[in-house]
Amino acid sequence: MSPAQLPVADLLLRLRRRQVAPSELLAACLARIEALDGTLRAFLYVHGEAARAEARRWDQAYARGEQVPPLAGIPVAVKDVIATRGVPTTCGSRILEGWRPPYEATVMTRLREAGAILLGKTNTDEFAMGSSTENSAFGPTRNPWDPERVPGGSSGGSAAAVAAGMAPCALGTDTGGSIRQPAGLCGIVGLKPTYGRVSRYGLVAYGSSLDQIGPLTRTVEDAALLLQVLAGHDPRDATSADVPVPDYGEALRAGIAGLRVGIAREGLDEGLQPGVRAAILQAVQALAELGAGLEEVTLPTIEYALPTYYLVATAEASSNLARYDGVRYGLRVEASEIVAMFSRTREAGFGPEVKRRIMLGTYALSAGFYEAFYLKAQRARTLVRRDFERAFERVDLVLLPTSPTVAFRLGERVADPLQMYLADIFTIPVNLAGLPGISVPCGFSEGLPVGLQLVGRPFDEPTVLRAAAAYQEATDWHLQRPPLAEAGAGGPAGGGRG
Ligand code: GLN
Repeated sequence: MSPAQLPVADLLLRLRRRQVAPSELLAACLARIEALDGTLRAFLYVHGEAARAEARRWDQAYARGEQVPPLAGIPVAVKDVIATRGVPTTCGSRILEGWRPPYEATVMTRLREAGAILLGKTNTDEFAMGSSTENSAFGPTRNPWDPERVPGGSSGGSAAAVAAGMAPCALGTDTGGSIRQPAGLCGIVGLKPTYGRVSRYGLVAYGSSLDQIGPLTRTVEDAALLLQVLAGHDPRDATSADVPVPDYGEALRAGIAGLRVGIAREGLDEGLQPGVRAAILQAVQALAELGAGLEEVTLPTIEYALPTYYLVATAEASSNLARYDGVRYGLRVEASEIVAMFSRTREAGFGPEVKRRIMLGTYALSAGFYEAFYLKAQRARTLVRRDFERAFERVDLVLLPTSPTVAFRLGERVADPLQMYLADIFTIPVNLAGLPGISVPCGFSEGLPVGLQLVGRPFDEPTVLRAAAAYQEATDWHLQRPPLAEAGAGGPAGGGRG
């Protein structure tokens, strides 16, 4: 097996024991990308040369037996909505094609200081708007378990990269499910931290009151390792919380016995694919056997979560995306006067889903409609949050499926936005409430992975990780690997590679 396919924790051990050098590990990732990404298209940009130079530096540090930072020599794939200094950051959009940020996101600074190496930028739905990665202006990513299927989205590139063993770990972002849903559909672990846990500085804003950055990994232990580096207060992000960062690795060892897990009744209602339901029920059984106390909880306002989200997220997006005007960033389409230049640039630069959302959000915020739509959505958001608060009076965690279905076929939902929006029915309420949530592999249906979602109280990532780790320890779903044709899989990867 290629070292690129190993979990981060294993790699760190091997690096320390000098069984593998950072340069070898990086070369293994680049070789997997070369072999597989022509088919999968998880990467929009591969950071080859600069990454090699960094890896050589860590080669020496390990060889000399120096004290190294916690992720020294670990390659990380980063969703292309996160600003990387001097490295293209497109957000999957034509409007930012060729843009190289003059600054880096706080998460990138933290990763760099922890010794991680930027491997490349991963494909995403345009400005993270979507659930399949089909809204990328640069073509869709494919699911490593079945290239005819979507990897989920919007962090589909990051999920596919990890699932296919092209990167040991990745960063994604989650506004309504975009870390957890693709992790679930690709059979890996995805953690959305509490809103405010990880700095959003340098994350290109979509729905600012919902967006969070988090890790996509093969194991829960790896998610804890990455969160340890990412989490913490950042004076550059006014919404980042000044809450102490606990030792997440320590939390993993506590086991699940004695924890109370609430099975959300709405999560098992109709609308769930039978194979998904069977896998979730089996996971519930496994948690009971591990000693978790189970009870049923109810989230009655969950049915309002989707319309609420599509008002709040689009309202925020319409305002956030106003800055792409042909003056400040990226694309400009010239015209004889400035207003025509703005509109031509935006007409040419944004794809159909982004335009749909800007229109919806602008409408929801406009005079006369603000109270009827935006304000009402804010009130409904409070109700969703209260549902969870009520549940957490009785239980420590709420259990839901990550997604009602397994990965769907490419093209299947493109013409029907509502069908696409339904993919996030179980993840969106968690963003509205600002809570931490994880997706862990819990089985297969039709040969495709199913994800189990565990949701915790604000800043209680330790309990979320602890339960997920205990479940993972007792099962081997996360050890399954997609059957990938490696040799000459689809020929050389596309353009834009550095
Ligand atoms: N699919 C949802 C949307 O399109 C969530 C996306 C996300 O979390 N970035 O808005």
